[in-house]
Amino acid sequence: MPTPIGHALGGIAAGVFIVRGTTTDVPVGARRIPVVLFFALLGLLPDIDFLLGGHRGVTHSVGATLTVGVLVAAVDRRPAVWLAAAAAYGSHVLLDWLGTDTIAPIGVMAFWPFDRTYYLSSYHWFLPVCRQYWLADCWFRVARAMWWELLLLAPPALAGLLLARRSRSVDTTPDD
Ligand SMILES: [Zn+2]
Repeated sequence: MPTPIGHALGGIAAGVFIVRGTTTDVPVGARRIPVVLFFALLGLLPDIDFLLGGHRGVTHSVGATLTVGVLVAAVDRRPAVWLAAAAAYGSHVLLDWLGTDTIAPIGVMAFWPFDRTYYLSSYHWFLPVCRQYWLADCWFRVARAMWWELLLLAPPALAGLLLARRSRSVDTTPDD
């Protein structure tokens, strides 16, 4: 499964490609936060189940992804933002599915609430994340996994950000 770096980049890439230049921030509670930070956090959010003792279950599913879209729709009127938020969250499920898992249950409960089966692709695009942090070799493997994720996910995230910036500058260019 990708590291938090990979998930944050995946969330940014998925979100900014959808909202493009339509907005630079979104409401969260009483505040507004930059869309880049919002999508990065949504890309990380499914792993919150790790704090609750489970991992890659209900929070790693199409049901949770749709729920995020509905919750964002309750606080923001722009359909592009709902869709982008769901895509940023759902990118986590996709990236975990494309990863390499070594801890049971193997995979993600991708189709909850319709199906509680865990799924994992056979592609293994992302390296396993070592959790034996007391071993020096573990840190080397984590660094290698992060570099690989940067190589794969930084280009689409940067492309999305450049596209968003370009869309905003076209929208703000005065007519001749
Ligand atoms: Zn995860």
